Amino acid sequence: MGAHWSEPVARLLRVGEDFDLPRVDRSATPGWDHGKKKAEKFMAKRGKELSELQERLYADGRSGGNRSVLLVLQGLDTAGKGGIVRHVLGMVDPQGVALASFGVPTAEEAAHDHLWRIRRELPPPGRIGVFDRSHYEQVLVVRVNGLEPPEVNDSRYAELVDFDLELAATGTTVIKVALMVSYDEQFERLAERLDRPDKYWKYSPGDIDTRLDWDDFQAAYAEMLTRTSVPQAPWYVVPADHKWYARLAVTELVIEALRSLDLGWPPADFDVETEKRRLAATH
Ligand code: AMP
Ligand code: MG
Repeated sequence: MGAHWSEPVARLLRVGEDFDLPRVDRSATPGWDHGKKKAEKFMAKRGKELSELQERLYADGRSGGNRSVLLVLQGLDTAGKGGIVRHVLGMVDPQGVALASFGVPTAEEAAHDHLWRIRRELPPPGRIGVFDRSHYEQVLVVRVNGLEPPEVNDSRYAELVDFDLELAATGTTVIKVALMVSYDEQFERLAERLDRPDKYWKYSPGDIDTRLDWDDFQAAYAEMLTRTSVPQAPWYVVPADHKWYARLAVTELVIEALRSLDLGWPPADFDVETEKRRLAATH
């Protein structure tokens, strides 16, 4: 058997009605009591499962199915969004993944409605879409930095939920992940970026400005999580001080989403026996 989750991780991490962000211990490893070494071993096994499920989704899309998955990754600087992309999605066939990152809107993006750039990057059928930051920045950085009037910003919550519901209704399984790192761990990770020339590229002076607004960002996250987690598109809060835990947990969330699609292999759209005879004739 070996080490395994003690409880379904989706249930442990899902944001429900009684959610309280300050209570979340960012160095905890809910559902996993076996430490890092065993997690890494288990991760390799889960990678095989993830890869097979992803192939089924891809095959379904190629055969006219309309299903897709969208993994939304949110988290402050250093929370490990990039590591999730590399270590979790890195375990599946890159052809099946549609990755998009959202930074400060370009002039062209800013000239449109805030969902314009998001719609353009939605995963086509058969794909796992991954958003490194997302439409939810509208109630995070935009809110904290006061980039639009408060009453407009307040209307965004309902708008974001409607958007996700529309996705869910048209065949996209939406998994929203908030990677929550602690203030102290963020310090360590930023310090490392400043200490190591191979990490400078990950650092941006603006990271310190965001860190100075830590409490405001925590409040914005808390509000976002409680106001925009719906059964059709729930938020999962993933403690992210242990990178290995966050990666293992997100792997499991994606596996569970894919498994719930219950996809078989598409049947042949040709006559198998005829094709075998035709092939044999060329031997
Ligand atoms: P990074 O993810 O490190 O490449 O940084 C991207 C930056 O873009 C972050 O500082 C975000 O806060 C910022 N950003 C993302 N979306 C928006 C938005 N809608 N408006 C303003 N800033 C944004
Ligand atoms: Mg950054």
